Amino acid sequence: MSKMVLGCIADDFTGATDLANNLVRAGMRVVQTIGVPSTPLAADVDAVVVALKSRTIAPADAIAQSLDAMTWLQAQGAQQIYFKYCSTFDSTAAGNIGPVSEALMDALGSDFTIATPAFPDNKRTVFKGYLFVGDVLLNESGMQNHPLTPMTDPNLVRVLQAQTTRKVGLIDHTVVARGADAVRERIAELRAAGVAMAVVDAVSNDDLLRLGPALAAMPLVTAGSGVAIGLPANFGIAPSSKASALPAAGGLSAIVSGSCSIATNRQVMNFIQTGRPAMAIDPLRIAAGVDVTAEALAWAEPLLADGPVLVYSTAETGAVKSVQGRLGVEEAGAMVERTIAAIARGLVALGVRQLVVAGGETSGACVQALGVTQMQIGPQIDPGVPWCHALAEAADGAGVHLTLKSGNFGADDFFTKAFAVLE
Ligand code: ADP
Repeated sequence: MSKMVLGCIADDFTGATDLANNLVRAGMRVVQTIGVPSTPLAADVDAVVVALKSRTIAPADAIAQSLDAMTWLQAQGAQQIYFKYCSTFDSTAAGNIGPVSEALMDALGSDFTIATPAFPDNKRTVFKGYLFVGDVLLNESGMQNHPLTPMTDPNLVRVLQAQTTRKVGLIDHTVVARGADAVRERIAELRAAGVAMAVVDAVSNDDLLRLGPALAAMPLVTAGSGVAIGLPANFGIAPSSKASALPAAGGLSAIVSGSCSIATNRQVMNFIQTGRPAMAIDPLRIAAGVDVTAEALAWAEPLLADGPVLVYSTAETGAVKSVQGRLGVEEAGAMVERTIAAIARGLVALGVRQLVVAGGETSGACVQALGVTQMQIGPQIDPGVPWCHALAEAADGAGVHLTLKSGNFGADDFFTKAFAVLE
């Protein structure tokens, strides 16, 4: 039976992996599930991260899915619930960070929680309640132009207060710097003043580690993935290489990439420059009815025995915009995702057992096509991106090593480095 203690709910897929990765590095054995499982937890782990896709859906739906996840996690033994959102506090005017936090508090009978997206390892810091991305405020970071969740106010107390009926306060850096006791005192003060959610400043991992003990008895923690580094110690868990142990890797290896982010474009270029085989997918040929999946698999099959191959639709912004102009943004995206997912499934059917997937949405599509529902989290390749191990329906139930890289993560040599990490 499992001894699971920490139950996490993530509002998107690669964000779930990012959180799971931080928990593993802090010593927890972690499984990530794709959606809320319909069966009990089978693995022997310390934490489970349920990956939802609830960031931009209607608040009522996000609440329903999150409560569902919470109920399942509690049934598996979770002593504390962690609601994980993006380190840039991605939310719409209606939510969903505020409404989901509030609903979880109600369900857990909790009268106080924290909220902080601080993730210093990825240059997300919070000071006086203001969120910085690198050296600039959130609303100057590019996030003000995000197509779905434009963030135009860097003051998280204001942003969160606009999304909730509960009173929002601040635990500022002068308190956090003094340690867990000071944080506990401040929480007592805020509670007495009727505050139910407090944004917490943190500019370094030391701040997050000082914060951790003060969160020990809190039924609900809401945060980005950063706060996770301070929680395992509350359960008597210390960093250990055992936490990231996965079954031995074998089989053929491949990469599929549907991400068009700047980092992924560099990674594709870098892989091609190593002289390894790479095949580009043209969305317009898919739209014209060509069986691009069959073409890609026929191309890959004879090459796989010699090492990893790359199949990619990754393109520069200009090319993507041109395709989107002709096919429509959503249609182009969905069509390419379907094709890459079918190629991933075909590659696994050909014996690929080590698969790198680049792109957040692309990863969601691939995992679905592979028939994966749970992934054990393994060693980190680059910050935020670990190897995982999953039983895949596409491999007739056999294990596949997978890594799901969100667009802007990973160094330039990620596509070659990844396989070296697995060796
Ligand atoms: P990221 O993590 O970089 O944001 P995603 O996979 O989440 O990557 O999103 C990339 C989106 O772009 C997907 O919907 C994908 O299908 C789509 N896409 C990929 N390649 C192209 C292309 N060449 N033209 C148009 N859209 C594309």
